[in-house]
Formats: sequence, C-alpha cells, structure tokens
Amino acid sequence: MTDMMSDLEKVLFDGETINQRIAELADEISRDYTDGELVLVTVLRGGLIFLADLSRRISIRHTFDVVGATSYGPHVESSGQVLITKDVEVPLQGRDVLLVEDIYDTGRTLHVVRDLLQVHDPRSLEICSLLVKDRPRSQEIPIKYIGFHIPNVFVVGYGLDYDEQYRHLNCVGVLKKEIYS
Ligand code: 5GP
Ligand code: MG
Repeated sequence: MTDMMSDLEKVLFDGETINQRIAELADEISRDYTDGELVLVTVLRGGLIFLADLSRRISIRHTFDVVGATSYGPHVESSGQVLITKDVEVPLQGRDVLLVEDIYDTGRTLHVVRDLLQVHDPRSLEICSLLVKDRPRSQEIPIKYIGFHIPNVFVVGYGLDYDEQYRHLNCVGVLKKEIYS
C-alpha cells in the first residue's frame, strides 16, 4: 500500500473524509426513500466499493444489484464508446432505483446505463455519484446525490482504477503523470 501511495501526486480525499461524506449521503437517502422498495444499482467495477460502503450505512430495508459497463481501457481518456456487458438480475419494475456511480465524467456511461435501467420500468430512477468532475459536458444529467466535486483531473482509488490497479486504496488521489505517460 505504501508503495502505491507513492504513485499519487496528491490525495484529494482521505478515507475518513470519504466515510464521513458517505454517512451523510446514506442518512439523506434513508430519509428520502420508502422502506423495502429501494434498489441500489452500481456499475462494475468502479462503483463496487462505494456501493458496499453506502449500502451498509443506509438504515432502511433495501437491496442492490450490479450492471457491467466498460468505457475506459488502460488509457486515461474516455474512449467514447460504452459497452453493456451485464444487465441487472433483481426485478426493478415498480421499485425505486438509485444508480450509484463512482464518477460523473463525460456522462456517457451514465446515459447508457440509465437508459438500460429505464427499460426495466422502475417507479423512480435517480443517480448518486461519489465524484463529479467539473468539466464541460455536451449533455448534463441530473445527479440527485453528489459526494464531492473535483477538478478535471484523472483520479484513482476508492474503486477507481488505472489499468485495473489502485481500486483498493481507501483514498481518492491524483495519479502522478509519469505513471501513465
Ligand atoms: P464517463 O466518461 O462515461 O462519465 O465515465 C466513464 C467511466 O470512466 C467512469 O465510470 C469511471 O469508471 C471512468 N473514469 C472517468 N473519469 C475517471 C478518472 O478520473 N479516473 C478513473 N480511474 N476512472 C475514470
Ligand atoms: Mg471504470
């Protein structure tokens, strides 16, 4: 871990800061939704750690599922093409779906996944994103719950990877440029 931490140029949010913010989001979600009807859905693999921590802090009855989508390869720029590799298995019809994402960057993934979930005919569909990149986007998507805003930089940790590494770091940080250039 020490080794991988030295690949970071700087830490934006440490583990404690992230945990605190997730507890606040979970409280808000627990107040906003009805017991038993909420389904959290995240996108593999970046959203897994956020989903696990958020779910365990939500106090109302709920369940969760995952979808597979992929857009970034080993590179740090979005390829622009989003592929759905796995659909949900939990029934969503008539239920309150909260799409839990690691990061809102170009928004392409969220658009595609949101459209996929809409086909399942949920009663409501909202988005919760741990991170929102402050950058221009051709089409904005409303994000109901936001963890943190970040500048337009490439970050890793807390689920977010570079070439499938760094996901297990408990902080979110900016990767040193020399690692990927
Ligand atoms: P989109 O561009 O479609 O909004 O983002 C697609 C996916 O790219 C995100 O779910 C996330 O997995 C990945 N991504 C976007 N920005 C970053 C970033 O700064 N760091 C990492 N590691 N992944 C990112
Ligand atoms: Mg990803």
